[in-house]
Amino acid sequence: MNNQDSKPPITRRSVLMAAAAVSAGTALQSCAPPGDQPIAKQTPKSHDLDFDVIVIGGGFAGVTAARELGVEGKRVLLLEARPRLGGRTFTGNFQGKKVEFGGSAVHWIQPHVFAEMQRYGKGFEEVPLVDLDATNVMLSSGEIKRISPSEFGEAYDSARIAFCAGSKELFPRPYSPFFKPGVLELSNVSAADHMESLGLNELQKATLNAELTLYGGAPPDEFSYTSFLKIYALAAWDYYVFSDSEKRYKISDGGTLGLCQAILDHSGAEVRLGKVVAKVHQDQNAIRVETTDGQTVSAKAAVITVPTKVYDDIDFTPGLSNEKREFIANAEMCDGACLFVRFKQNLGNTFSFCDDPNPFTAIQTEYFDDDFGTIVKVTLGRQSLIDLNDHDAVSAVMKRLFPKAEIEAISSYNWATDPFSRQAWPSYRVGWFSKYKEMAKPEGRLFFAGGATADGWHAYIDGAVESGIRAGREVRQALAEESASTGAS
Ligand SMILES: Cc1cc2nc3c(=O)[nH]c(=O)nc-3n(C[C@H](O)[C@H](O)[C@H](O)COP(=O)(O)OP(=O)(O)OC[C@H]3O[C@@H](n4cnc5c(N)ncnc54)[C@H](O)[C@@H]3O)c2cc1C
Repeated sequence: MNNQDSKPPITRRSVLMAAAAVSAGTALQSCAPPGDQPIAKQTPKSHDLDFDVIVIGGGFAGVTAARELGVEGKRVLLLEARPRLGGRTFTGNFQGKKVEFGGSAVHWIQPHVFAEMQRYGKGFEEVPLVDLDATNVMLSSGEIKRISPSEFGEAYDSARIAFCAGSKELFPRPYSPFFKPGVLELSNVSAADHMESLGLNELQKATLNAELTLYGGAPPDEFSYTSFLKIYALAAWDYYVFSDSEKRYKISDGGTLGLCQAILDHSGAEVRLGKVVAKVHQDQNAIRVETTDGQTVSAKAAVITVPTKVYDDIDFTPGLSNEKREFIANAEMCDGACLFVRFKQNLGNTFSFCDDPNPFTAIQTEYFDDDFGTIVKVTLGRQSLIDLNDHDAVSAVMKRLFPKAEIEAISSYNWATDPFSRQAWPSYRVGWFSKYKEMAKPEGRLFFAGGATADGWHAYIDGAVESGIRAGREVRQALAEESASTGAS
């Protein structure tokens, strides 16, 4: 990525300045990036450009932004690199059962995704989770504790309650996460630092450490303590609601793909799948986006929704702000992946936590009965600890946890190595949570969305939807202001 000083502006101030210059008969060339083509003296009519807005990325942030703009009559193009929609959500099939290889759990306490489910008639499907038959904790040493679900619940719940004890005071308004100055004062505290101060017992430590590794997608000494507390605060500062919101309910009626498609269908946007954006150029009047197959499209504005770690693959001219480049280089971690395993036997309703550095951080039964056997879903916080393509290595760990069970099939999705995500769910490195708003700031004709830029449930589908709504509003306002001040339509 390049970084140049000159940002073609579309902010209220710049639009007013541009309008003043035009009305005074002054060319706007002084604002052009060095070496750029001569630029028009006036914002072109929308029909001079291919589209009003180009949305880059067809995950939940992208389809939501496209819908927010499309329903307002904007001509929207959505460019998606993969041959499918959904981004880090992926409704697939494993052994004849519908499964979610990416983002999955939703809850009515997540207001943005719940509103979308309501709008498009999607319901909740419950996964087993409650009334567990068996629970395991693999300690960091690799030793397995086979404990009763009530003992498991006691350790896990009490540890989270202790860890999140300050959440109500620190985050009385979780959607304004820095409302209390104490949050910024704690920005250099890692999840591990805070956990160490609590004097937890072995089981409490192991379950909580696994949970934090899961959220960080990294060891808890790298993971921001306050960012986790904010999510807990969003779940009404309640451990039970928090658990339900992260593990218990999926989207019925087509899964995440069904909801994503419904939002996009409503947008009326033109959609081009399999289009990898390579370059984004903005000048005084327009955005030009080039894909790796050499096609170029133009628009008045673009919404970038690619995952943070993918930004470096796109050449932005002029370059993005220093603040964004630092965020992109440092802020996010999440070495996560997802794995499904089918066992021949009915193992019942199980849940296991494997403490770091054991790779299979959380293992949850998805389907079980005597005829079919069992499918467990494994979420890895640190996929780099194991080669997921090495089925012998995967089987060896599974056999330790479920010694009598025979493995019938294994299927995985490695989000951390996928070139269009390079990470799983959004997570903030210690010291970087307080800077996420930099990533959301518009730059000229560029607007930014994506789960990591959300005020609320940033590690979730909900955060992606929230960010798409916000970016849609910003684009609408900016285009309306531009058109009011230049007379362009
Ligand atoms: C394994 C896993 C489990 C998760 N569990 C949950 C959960 O239970 N509940 C929950 O709510 N959330 C969960 N999440 C998080 C949630 O899925 C994400 O936060 C959310 O889907 C992010 O949406 P997004 O639109 O911001 O980004 P994305 O979904 O990543 O969308 C970005 C899009 O940009 C595209 N793109 C990338 N590069 C380019 C390019 N150069 N040109 C064009 N397009 C490009 C990508 O292909 C992608 O479609 C999970 C995620 C993972 C991976």
